[in-house]
Amino acid sequence: MISDPAGAARAPHLCGGCGVFLPATLGACDVCGAPAAAARPAPPLPAEGVWARIECRFACPSCGVLTPINHLDADGSVTCAHCALEQSLDIAMWRRVLPGAHEVADLSGVMPWIAAAPANAPLVHDNPYRHVGLVVSHWDWSEHGVVGARAAVAVRASPGRPLCARCRSPVTLRLGAGGHATASCAACAVDVSYALPREAPALYAPAAAVLAPEHRTDRRAAVLRQEGGATTAQLVCPTCGGPLTARTDAYETECGYCRLPVLVSTKLWARLGLGAPRTEGWWVLLRGPSARRQKLEQDAARPDALQDEIAARARAAAQQAGGGVPGWGQAPGEAAPEGQASQSGGCGALALLAAILLVLGLGAF
Ligand SMILES: [Zn+2]
Ligand SMILES: [Zn+2]
Ligand SMILES: [Zn+2]
Ligand SMILES: [Zn+2]
Repeated sequence: MISDPAGAARAPHLCGGCGVFLPATLGACDVCGAPAAAARPAPPLPAEGVWARIECRFACPSCGVLTPINHLDADGSVTCAHCALEQSLDIAMWRRVLPGAHEVADLSGVMPWIAAAPANAPLVHDNPYRHVGLVVSHWDWSEHGVVGARAAVAVRASPGRPLCARCRSPVTLRLGAGGHATASCAACAVDVSYALPREAPALYAPAAAVLAPEHRTDRRAAVLRQEGGATTAQLVCPTCGGPLTARTDAYETECGYCRLPVLVSTKLWARLGLGAPRTEGWWVLLRGPSARRQKLEQDAARPDALQDEIAARARAAAQQAGGGVPGWGQAPGEAAPEGQASQSGGCGALALLAAILLVLGLGAF
């Protein structure tokens, strides 16, 4: 158990607003501001992997206004919601963001494999995220990728569980073939289906599902229609062609004629002059242990293997010093001549010294 954070004593709770693990010490969520009173006990971890909530935003290099990236945007460009300027987005950025979010979630202090590890184990001792979920609920860093390195992208990752948009209960996920996933709320009897962007497996293979409005497959996208000489474009329903009124607080709007719920993508927000959407967290399900967790687990296993090797070498050296026992590098049964025994004994001592130096060197590493 981790000794210092007070949150370790309570069963993990999820923020009732955004679904991140909310530390017991916080009166309000440090990600979304929802009161701690709305928190609820977290359900058991899903077998499929760990969930990470990601927030991304950048300051437009032209106008300076903050624009969120509210989904796994892999088409190579982002549009400033304020000045509508299209900027290049190097999608290789996701090759750092996704593994980063994976290790934040996977190594956070609320994960059972971290909570159960001894305080001096590398999984705790050398783990920068051990307080995430117990003291703070997020880890922030900055990436480059928009217009080369000109605009820094602020990234925030948190462990947690995606919630039902209606009742705020954690959803359950069914993974289908081809990157399809269905998030269900039993209480509301609502299913929402999503698909991974085509590029996702090549960007980061452990990403098994991405939950964001723009990745929904059960919503058709609104169409922007620009009439001949008109200066302004009109948003229309993809089914009946009726005019739509976009909302400034959600990606979804409803057709007033045919009642179809329609998705208004971020790129359309900019074209319609709706202003920047709010930064909204989106969820990624990450399968298997992160690379960093694997390394820390290997580090935990390593000292024992070294101790065994040192003991074996020490035994061999002691045997050699005793004489009459073949040393290293000698074929079995090949008796060491008198006088060579002390020499090979010296070799054994050197090997022991080398082994000790190796341990010291690795310890320093
Ligand atoms: Zn929250
Ligand atoms: Zn701008
Ligand atoms: Zn619900
Ligand atoms: Zn319609």
